[in-house]
Amino acid sequence: MNGVVLNSRNDGVPSVLIIYTGGTIGMVQKDYGLTPVQFDNIVYEVPELNRLGYNLEAITFDSPIDSSNMTPELWKEIAEIIEENYSRFDGFVVLHGTDTMAYTASAMSFMLKNLSKPVIFTGSQLPIGVLRTDGKENLITSIEIAAAKDTNGKPQVAEVCVYFDFKLMRANRSVKRHSDHFSAFHSPNYPLLAKAGVDIKYYRDHIAEFDSEHKLEINTSFDRNVVVLKLFPGILPSVVESIFSTNGLKGIVIEAFGSGNVTSEEWFADLVEKAASKGILIVIVTQCEGGVVKIGRYATSRKLLEAGVINGKDMTTEAAITKLMYLLGNNFKIDEIKREMRLSLRGEIIV
Ligand code: ASP
Repeated sequence: MNGVVLNSRNDGVPSVLIIYTGGTIGMVQKDYGLTPVQFDNIVYEVPELNRLGYNLEAITFDSPIDSSNMTPELWKEIAEIIEENYSRFDGFVVLHGTDTMAYTASAMSFMLKNLSKPVIFTGSQLPIGVLRTDGKENLITSIEIAAAKDTNGKPQVAEVCVYFDFKLMRANRSVKRHSDHFSAFHSPNYPLLAKAGVDIKYYRDHIAEFDSEHKLEINTSFDRNVVVLKLFPGILPSVVESIFSTNGLKGIVIEAFGSGNVTSEEWFADLVEKAASKGILIVIVTQCEGGVVKIGRYATSRKLLEAGVINGKDMTTEAAITKLMYLLGNNFKIDEIKREMRLSLRGEIIV
């Protein structure tokens, strides 16, 4: 990890820490494709950073990555940087590739319990050095949001968020929806937390209550013995069987049809029941862009109820899988995990 001081003002102004992991925002075009380079490139391309009236520092990965290479070990490193620097900064901006940003940001929301400062994930669709880049706006406004206080001196948003294309979203509600539009992210099942225009308008009713009473707690263990299975008409029983019988498997997120429907062919119910009886946790989310799972609404999902699957309701796949990995990684008992999966830990699910 490398640390850089960008602006050193005085004690009276907010302090923001940028954590640079890589992603398109910090990439340059090489013969073999877009490749992340060191943070100096961003500093060079965004001289505006010096004009921000904040104390600004950055900590960067030694080898910045394309976020397709993100891992739970690196989620832990980001969380630990936040923990180590928590008392020195008012807010944090994590620069991250867009491809897996919704996973890392969701995981971060579970790792950071009792958060009372903003942690804003952002990146860009075009590298920072490209004339039409969306990176400058995303970066500068994210820093402003990370520094923003209300009239009582409290942070405007004390949550893990994704900021992209003028929209601030709750991290564990965000989804990457487009591979080339600037509006790459959306929050299908939860309203925006803020919108940037001439002013940044915060939607107080949708932002989590500020909690100053409890101390930040971080839990960085994740269990990787999980899988996401997207159903499609014609999926072979042998494929499902081989996934379900993976050695050591502890959790499955099934992306079901519509409001949580699955094929009513007997082999499927049998495999689900067999997996559940072995103690494998099965969570049902929808493969639709938005909406809530209602297991039992259609006859085709009845059998799932009998097998004791967990209703993922309106959770995104990214939130469901990282929440499951987090709960399994923190040694909860099966019944506790079942209960916690149904509860809202960080505003990720409707209750
Ligand atoms: N492949 C890139 C990444 O996720 C895409 C991006 O940043 O937009 O790192």
